[in-house]
Amino acid sequence: MNCKDTQNLIDGYLDDELDLVSNLEIEDHIQDCVLCAQDYKSHQLLRNGIKTGSFYFKAPTDLQTKIQSSLRKAAKAEEGRTWVLPKWWFNIVAPMAAAAVMVLALVPFLRGPSTDELLANEVVSSHVRSLMATHLADVASSDHHTVKPWFAGKLDFSPPVEDLAKQGYPLVGGRLDYLENRPVAALVYQRQKHFINLFIWPAGSDSHVRAKMGSRQGYDLAYWTKSGMTYWAVSDLNSSELQEFVQLVQNQTSPTM
Ligand SMILES: [Zn+2]
Repeated sequence: MNCKDTQNLIDGYLDDELDLVSNLEIEDHIQDCVLCAQDYKSHQLLRNGIKTGSFYFKAPTDLQTKIQSSLRKAAKAEEGRTWVLPKWWFNIVAPMAAAAVMVLALVPFLRGPSTDELLANEVVSSHVRSLMATHLADVASSDHHTVKPWFAGKLDFSPPVEDLAKQGYPLVGGRLDYLENRPVAALVYQRQKHFINLFIWPAGSDSHVRAKMGSRQGYDLAYWTKSGMTYWAVSDLNSSELQEFVQLVQNQTSPTM
């Protein structure tokens, strides 16, 4: 189960509405994923908060008096006669409004992780899965003249494929993967005993984004866009080597759409 699925199902999980398999999958995921664990905790807090009524506030008496007197004044000015709100209004409507304000104020803190963070988690999961299942490549070849045409007909774009053997990062092969709800190209490179997954798909816009580096669950990540393509590189290499790899790819890539 990925982060998106987990977060979609977290309320169902808390309300005990899911089947056993989904429950177990969510528990598994929450154990390994810090972000989803946080999300789970904040949902739990909100749920308990609402349940135990700690968001339920009674309007203070002086507020009640102030509102009543200002309403009286306004009414007098208008019609010269006095009226007051019924008592139930203060007992029911005002606390409800106060609770609504509290919940709305909390919403920014309860919002899940950003799209980039979710995508970074997806990228790491795909990388780990490719290593665990020893399913690194659908087409195993160090020749980019073999790997590049293999993607034709399988993807609606042509990923730039470069061999970087001379620079110390030989191409191992290519694979179809699925990220951000779309099929993407995964190119696999090797550096000594380490593997690098380079995921490529068309960028939403033509914007040029310089490489951003980060790390997740012990893996280093790099993300950039160039000439209409989005790139994500992930590996357990040390970050300076990954940076070198990113630089090499950036210098070589000249995509053909
Ligand atoms: Zn997660």
